[in-house]
Amino acid sequence: MTVETINPATGQVEYRHELMAPAQVDAVLAAAQAAFPGWSQRSLESRGEVLRAIAAALRSRRGDLQQTMTAEMGKLRKEALAEVDKCADACDYYAAHAAGYLQDQAIATDGRRSYVRYEPLGCVLAVMPWNFPVWQVFRFLAPALMAGNVAVLKHASNVPRCADLIAQALEEAGLPPGVFGVLHIDNEQAAAVLRDPRVVAVTLTGSERAGRSVAGTAGQQLKKCVMELGGSDAFVVLEDADLDQAVAGAVASRFGNSGQTCIAAKRFIVVEAIADRFVERFAEAAAKLRLGDPDDAATTLAPLARQDLRDELHKQVRDSIAKGARPLLGCEPDASYAGYPASILDAVAPGMPAYEEELFGPVASILRVKDEAEAVRVANDTTFGLGGSVWSGDPERGERVARQLQVGAAFVNAIVRSDVRLPFGGTKRSGFGRELAEHGIHEFMNIKSVYVA
Ligand code: NDP
Repeated sequence: MTVETINPATGQVEYRHELMAPAQVDAVLAAAQAAFPGWSQRSLESRGEVLRAIAAALRSRRGDLQQTMTAEMGKLRKEALAEVDKCADACDYYAAHAAGYLQDQAIATDGRRSYVRYEPLGCVLAVMPWNFPVWQVFRFLAPALMAGNVAVLKHASNVPRCADLIAQALEEAGLPPGVFGVLHIDNEQAAAVLRDPRVVAVTLTGSERAGRSVAGTAGQQLKKCVMELGGSDAFVVLEDADLDQAVAGAVASRFGNSGQTCIAAKRFIVVEAIADRFVERFAEAAAKLRLGDPDDAATTLAPLARQDLRDELHKQVRDSIAKGARPLLGCEPDASYAGYPASILDAVAPGMPAYEEELFGPVASILRVKDEAEAVRVANDTTFGLGGSVWSGDPERGERVARQLQVGAAFVNAIVRSDVRLPFGGTKRSGFGRELAEHGIHEFMNIKSVYVA
């Protein structure tokens, strides 16, 4: 079957590729299986050298990767370059820190010696989305490679060349053949790969729908899985917040990557006493964003990655307005192929898509609340639990509120970001398991107790 990638800035077909035949898929899995013993038995120093070479290869190919990301899913040039740099830094980070994370941990028992040892599992399937087409891969891959695992990637169908460029960079860096493989396959084939005994586990970043399907297959197969799903992060503005700081954070978090970020602030929960001033300033700043060609340095808001995603977003906006939300800014699709302007919906309330669902695009929902206690209640009144931020002139108060948020990451006076030093992941329907930091590298390892009487 032929799959087309459409450039979201132009609406033109960018690239066509064929899905792999069963024999090609089998060859990738066989190569992974053959590569595992050698790679897992290498010293950490040796794997670290390869990771450093991968970081260098990414840096030397940052222009190619940027152009491909921009053409395939419409990322702003500046954001795409920053994404590649972040991936290279993550490789360097794990090269430097994996030894500390993976050393045996002595545990006092009544035995002569007892300790925990971390052993790699084998080949992990990574099912990845298009929104950060390079970072999502490396967020999993850098720790997985240092752990001694091997991996096969089923990337989103609209970013096939990003997947191929990643594979080329890894090869150029000297990663042995088979340690990383790209599978150009559809979702049915991905399920078959997960059922294959040569694959021991799966990690997925994407929608709840994809998560249910892939975690269901993993469950039937009793294979470990990590699910990094959607979010509808609260951005809580208390009456003592520094408005300059909060408005700058709100614009960066909601409109960066055209709003297509799982940890973007989506629900702006604002205490009445400051609400009018915050909303006015936020709308003023958001109105300055310039939608356009993502490869043009003057553009500050990229199109959405696909036209169907733009249409789905607009349906959520229309349905919310029909239920009483007030459009304050934007809220009408742009004339371009997949563009949507910076938009704000005020008076968002329960029962509206903007309250209940994830809006994966540049639309901010304003929810006005009476006080701090109501802010916490509304922030937690969601099926999602990925991240959240709290803005207050009193950092201790902010921290007190942050600790009450039912999320995987709570930030005070800063936007939620993934940071290689901190674990990343969600609670509730935002998924389970963790990526990054020490917790992330242990996810796909056998945590083995050794006891010597
Ligand atoms: P999907 O969740 O469908 O896609 C993400 C990845 O999962 C892709 O590689 C996709 O492959 C794959 N996938 C989807 N269904 C299955 C399945 N049944 N079995 C195996 N793999 C599967 O995202 P969409 O592109 O459809 O975006 C829809 C919504 O998902 C967005 O509007 C947003 O709400 C959410 N999303 C959240 C992300 C996040 O970072 N949390 C990232 C991307 C999307 P393929 O492309 O071949 O279908």
